[in-house]
Amino acid sequence: MDVSTKLVVGNWKMNGSLAGNAELLGEVTKSAGLGCEVAVCAPFPYLMQVLQILPPRSGIALGAQNVSEFDDGAYTGEVSARMLSDLGCSYVIVGHSERRSLFHEDDGTVGRKTRAALRAGLLPIVCVGETSAERNDGITLEVVTRQLDAVAAEIDGLDVDQIVLAYEPIWAIGSGLTATAEQVGEVHASIRTWTQRVFGSEVTTKILYGGSVKPGNAAELFAVPNVDGGLIGGASLVARDFLAICHAA
Ligand code: PEP
Repeated sequence: MDVSTKLVVGNWKMNGSLAGNAELLGEVTKSAGLGCEVAVCAPFPYLMQVLQILPPRSGIALGAQNVSEFDDGAYTGEVSARMLSDLGCSYVIVGHSERRSLFHEDDGTVGRKTRAALRAGLLPIVCVGETSAERNDGITLEVVTRQLDAVAAEIDGLDVDQIVLAYEPIWAIGSGLTATAEQVGEVHASIRTWTQRVFGSEVTTKILYGGSVKPGNAAELFAVPNVDGGLIGGASLVARDFLAICHAA
């Protein structure tokens, strides 16, 4: 993957409406030349709408926020990676902390979802990160490494060059608290060392930071070594904030 261009991904979470999405995307696509790679991860029911609104040359890619670990079949309520790919999604977020904590996705599930995404030709954005208790206990790097190892265990033989990683300290998500540049730098350097050891030094993996990224802190965070872009929650719902973050990348 080309890490010379930063990637900014909007995670709308469970927000939006047909009218609201059209307005938000109308504003975002009015701005010419975002200066970085951009993707929007919308709720399942709005994926087709987003795809239809985005001008083909907008350079904004479509992503989903979750995917089934299973292939097609008797899995009521699930959405397969093949379906997302068929629809025109490029990315899918896997293992977001809200899925891990609220929907009981464990490390193994996240690994199998990553495998399903890769097999369908999607670019999985795999989220890892520690709780505040884990940070206070001094085991942040251990937790992140355990989460990464669980993914590696499931993707043997698949194209690891398609994986995007996102470091999202759980205590910083939606909280208004942001990790300091020093904290981000330490974890991203550790993740970079991990990717080089496990994926090989010829593979360049984009490592995003996520956790209360705002227009006011984006430039500082994006300047940290090994930060190749951002995963943006709340601020991706406000066109001028999302655009300012893209311009800072
Ligand atoms: C997220 O949902 O991935 C996220 C980082 O949220 P926020 O930017 O609101 O903290």
